[in-house]
Amino acid sequence: MERFDLNTCNKVKEWLSKEVKRVIIIPHVNPDGDAIGSALGLNDVLNNAGFESHVIVPNDFPTYLGWLGSDGVPLIYEQSSERCHQLIDQADALFFLDFNDVKRMGKLEEYLRSNTKPVVLIDHHPDPIIKADYMFSDTNVSSTAELVFDFVEAMGMMEHLGATGANALLTGIIADTGSFSHNASRSPMYHIVAELIKRGAEKDKITEALYNNFSEKRMRLLGYCLSEKMEIFPQYKTAVIWLSAEELKKFDFHPGDTEGFVNYPLSVKGIVFSAFFMEKRDYVKISFRSKGSFPTNEFSGVHFSGGGHRNASGGETKLSMKEALARFRELLPQYSEQLDKDC
Ligand code: 5GP
Ligand code: MN
Repeated sequence: MERFDLNTCNKVKEWLSKEVKRVIIIPHVNPDGDAIGSALGLNDVLNNAGFESHVIVPNDFPTYLGWLGSDGVPLIYEQSSERCHQLIDQADALFFLDFNDVKRMGKLEEYLRSNTKPVVLIDHHPDPIIKADYMFSDTNVSSTAELVFDFVEAMGMMEHLGATGANALLTGIIADTGSFSHNASRSPMYHIVAELIKRGAEKDKITEALYNNFSEKRMRLLGYCLSEKMEIFPQYKTAVIWLSAEELKKFDFHPGDTEGFVNYPLSVKGIVFSAFFMEKRDYVKISFRSKGSFPTNEFSGVHFSGGGHRNASGGETKLSMKEALARFRELLPQYSEQLDKDC
């Protein structure tokens, strides 16, 4: 496959066949559709190919992704750390998927700090700062799931990609492109989608699970955010939505409920930068999205200890919600010129 360097592919292929039997796949903390989809997709292929592979997610994942797994698959580190330690200790190789910085491994970071096992990174975030023995990193793709497909092809394992793996990978692609609405303008992705559907991926089932599977409370929370909690700064083409812990409780918040909320303000004409602040137990989690050239990942990195892609990134702060919002508002004027470029 031209996406990856042929030499590296040959080396990895040989290493996998000669030295690797047990594999652990780790996606990022607070896993989304691409993290879970790419990890479970690769996991299925590797298990079909005769490896003993397990996926360990750092913390729990949204229930709407549950159908992609099965009993105990994936394992959740925060819920069964002993078992996860055992499996990691026995593994011959670790695959890190859909993140570019070890900080994104949540509590697993600490356990893996002294890791000496070979690491393979498959990821589409810019500027990876992870020490990996083999890197399959490309920012020109829709999703890590797309890269996993290419990796499987490059490893000569396509015969092991069946309906289960195909469903997982297509979920990753659909989730990271918002159902083919962003980051989805390059043709190779559609060839991959076609191939996944040929192998049994059920597109309608995936979109039902991702987009038509919400609780009544979540829909009302969205309505509340848009009508009561969205603040627009027309002069900076920016909008912000914020939710306190109390509000989340009132709407019976479950992980994943606020997924995608940050995108809504971008459908207001003229808005190019959107932020969503959510109060967690001892910090505020922030999501950023933009249209066009505004680099939300740089903004997030400089001001909110975060990162991600240019148009989709996240960060966090130990400031209180009130202070965090004040900080955000006060930062906008210095970005006014950059924000004005996009329309
Ligand atoms: P989300 O806003 O959906 O949580 O994340 C959007 C993108 O930003 C994803 O690609 C995710 O990996 C990245 N991201 C989210 N939160 C953080 C963070 O705290 N640090 C870094 N480096 N990236 C993040
Ligand atoms: Mn991704």
